[in-house]
Amino acid sequence: MKKSIAGMFAGIAFGVASMGVLASDWSYEGVEGPEYWGNLSPDFVMCKSGKNQSPINITNLVKGKLPRLDVNYSAAGKEIINNGHTVQVNYQPGSTLTVDGHSYELKQFHFHTPSENHINGQPYDLEAHFVHADKDGNLAVMAVMFKVGKENQALNAVWKDMPEHKGDKVEEMHAIDGASLLPKKLAYYRYNGSLTTPPCSEGVVWLVLKDVQEVSADQVAKFAGVLEHPNNRPIQKTNARVVIR
Ligand SMILES: [Zn+2]
Repeated sequence: MKKSIAGMFAGIAFGVASMGVLASDWSYEGVEGPEYWGNLSPDFVMCKSGKNQSPINITNLVKGKLPRLDVNYSAAGKEIINNGHTVQVNYQPGSTLTVDGHSYELKQFHFHTPSENHINGQPYDLEAHFVHADKDGNLAVMAVMFKVGKENQALNAVWKDMPEHKGDKVEEMHAIDGASLLPKKLAYYRYNGSLTTPPCSEGVVWLVLKDVQEVSADQVAKFAGVLEHPNNRPIQKTNARVVIR
């Protein structure tokens, strides 16, 4: 019974809503690490059999006319949680990303160190994922890369509420506007991919911003220290996909 209910909701929307619920079922190292995710549960089968998995090395670019990204976020971070896999800011309804007239709502943003996607073979020190869903549950993830350099003031606003242990949650976090973490120019690469965590559901539109932000070594170290392990899934095969620039 339990299994059939899990199966019913094993779609993409489930992956977003319940990252915390699945948190104990997999990890980034050892026998529950990324190479075994596809064997840990029937719900995770896409992690090993999918052909459009994320992250990837963004290369072999095809020139296209990509529509402008229209970001309309408000300062509506609701709570910040440490689920053992990442530190995540859950967002209140009403903040949107519009691409070519198609509207997605911002659900949450979270971080990976080192970066998951690479650009022309290069990994970055930190990657933020802004996870959006449209009214039908289709996902669009906007990714922002950070390299070590100057301290990032916008990131400090998130980091000061950092929940330090797995399972910790700060519900009354400072008002945080996700847009403050974005570069001014929203030029991007686009490819079709998946969630980078189980259940690795596909059909996710990836929008990887070209402009790289800076972060201090101390800021990266604070996040890495809280997680106690790297939280990047290894690069996946591109297979038949192209990346549009
Ligand atoms: Zn992510």
